[in-house]
Amino acid sequence: MKKLALTLCLGMTLSCWAASPKLEIYSGETDTVFSPSHYVIAVTEPGCDATINGEKIHVYKTGSFGTKLNLKPGKNSINVKVTDGKKKAEKKFFVFYNPDGKPAVKEELPPVTQPLMHPLDITTLPGAYLQNGNGDDRLGGSKMGFLVEDIPMTAVGETENLYKVQLSDNRYAYLPKEYAQQGGEGRATVNSGSWSIMNIGDTDRVTVALPRRVPYYYVTELEPSVLKVSLFGVTNNSNWITQRNEPGMIDYVDFAQDESDVLTVILHLKEKYQWGFTVGYQGNNIVIDVRHRPQSLALKDLTIGVDAGHGEKYSGAVSPSGLKEKDANLDIVLKIAAMLEKEGAKVVLSRPDDSNVSMTERKRIFREAGVDLMVSVHNNASGNPLEPMGTSVYYKHICNRPLAKALHTSMLSLGVADFGLTGNFNFSLNGPTDYPNALVEGLFMSSLPEEEMLADPDFRTKMAEKVVEGLKNYLKEVEKSL
Ligand SMILES: [Zn+2]
Repeated sequence: MKKLALTLCLGMTLSCWAASPKLEIYSGETDTVFSPSHYVIAVTEPGCDATINGEKIHVYKTGSFGTKLNLKPGKNSINVKVTDGKKKAEKKFFVFYNPDGKPAVKEELPPVTQPLMHPLDITTLPGAYLQNGNGDDRLGGSKMGFLVEDIPMTAVGETENLYKVQLSDNRYAYLPKEYAQQGGEGRATVNSGSWSIMNIGDTDRVTVALPRRVPYYYVTELEPSVLKVSLFGVTNNSNWITQRNEPGMIDYVDFAQDESDVLTVILHLKEKYQWGFTVGYQGNNIVIDVRHRPQSLALKDLTIGVDAGHGEKYSGAVSPSGLKEKDANLDIVLKIAAMLEKEGAKVVLSRPDDSNVSMTERKRIFREAGVDLMVSVHNNASGNPLEPMGTSVYYKHICNRPLAKALHTSMLSLGVADFGLTGNFNFSLNGPTDYPNALVEGLFMSSLPEEEMLADPDFRTKMAEKVVEGLKNYLKEVEKSL
C-alpha cells in the first residue's frame, strides 16, 4: 500500500466526525452539452464509496472519482451519491444534451498581414525575437530565434502585434512590435570582413567583421554536429578566415552564400553533444561563442539548474481534489536538488520556495550561474480525466534532443503512459541556447489515476529519482561518445 499524504489522512479522520461526507462536483455539472459523451468528476473523502446514477464508481486515494456517461437526447438526470458507511451525501443535477445544436466555438480568424504604405525603419529592443510566420499559440507564435538589441530592419507589413520585416531580398519574418522601436538605418546589404576563430578558455569565439549590425538566424544540427548562423543582408567578401589556436569544440569553420544576400557561417563541431552557444554583437562585429564540454562530466564537477514550474499566486494546474501543480513541482524539484547535491553537484534553483519568479528572471538566474544543464519540472493537465495520460519531455533546439530523450526514456521506466517527446517547443525556458535544457511534464494533474500518483510523496520521490537518473544517463552517453 502506498502511504497517503498527511492532508489526506487528516481528511479521513475528520470525516468520522463530520455530519456527512464531503461531496463536491468538480466538472460535468453543465447546463447544455452537444456531445453524448459526458464526464462527471467529483470529490469526496478518501475511503468513501461512491455511485453515479446507481453505478458504483472507484474512489481514488485522493477522494476523486468520476465516470463517462452516455447521454440521451434531451434532459438527463444525474445523481451522485457518496457514503462513508454511516452517513451519506448526494447531489442531483440535470444536463441537457442537444444532438442538433452546435457547440459555441469561438471563431478564430487567421491573422492577416496588412502591407505598410511606406516601409518603416525599426530597431530591435532587448528581448527581441523573430517568428517565421504571423501565427499565434498558447505559448506565443513559433520562434525562429532571439536577437540582441540595436539591429536595424525595415518593416513592410504589420498585424495587430507584429511587424513583417524584410530580412533579405527574398526572406521575410515577423518581429513583435513590443520589441521594436521606430527609427534607425533600415535594411541594407553589406560585405563581410575578416573572420577570427579563437579558443578563449572554456569557449570558442568566432568573430565576423561587419560594417553594421544585421539580423541573424541560428540553427543546430546533429550527426554531424553543426551550428549555423545565417546573416541577412550580407554578401561574402571575407578573404581571411583565420584560426588563431586550437579550438575546444569547433572542428573547422566554413561558409555558404545561401542567397545573393544571405551569408551562412557554418561551424562544424568536434563532438556530437553540444553544451550551448550564444550569438551577439561586439560593436558591429558578430560574435558566436561556442561553449566547450565541461572538463569533467562527474556530477560533483557540474552545476545543474532545476526549475520548479509556477509559484505563489500562479498555481499552474489544480487537480480535482485540490492538489496544486506548483506544490507538486516544487516538492519534486527539492527532491531532485537533494539527490544531486548528495552526489556532489552544485544545484541552482530558480525558486527554492513558493515564490513567484518571472520567466526572464529564471533565465537570468541560470545564465548567470553558468549552469551546465537545466531541467524544468512541470505537471500537465487536460485530456481524458479517467485514463492515465502519461509523461512527456520537451525541447526547442535540436541540439537538446539527446538530453530530452534521455530524460524521457528514464521517466517512462516508471511504468507510466507515454505522452511523447516533443521538439520545437515554444516554452520560454526551452528558448535559451546558452546551456542544454529540457522540460519534463511529469504526469497529468487532471487524470484521476495520475492525480493519485502525484498526491503520493513516495511516487514524487520516484519521479525525482527518474529525473536524476535521466541526467546521469545523458552524461554517461556523452562520456561514451568521446
Ligand atoms: Zn505547468
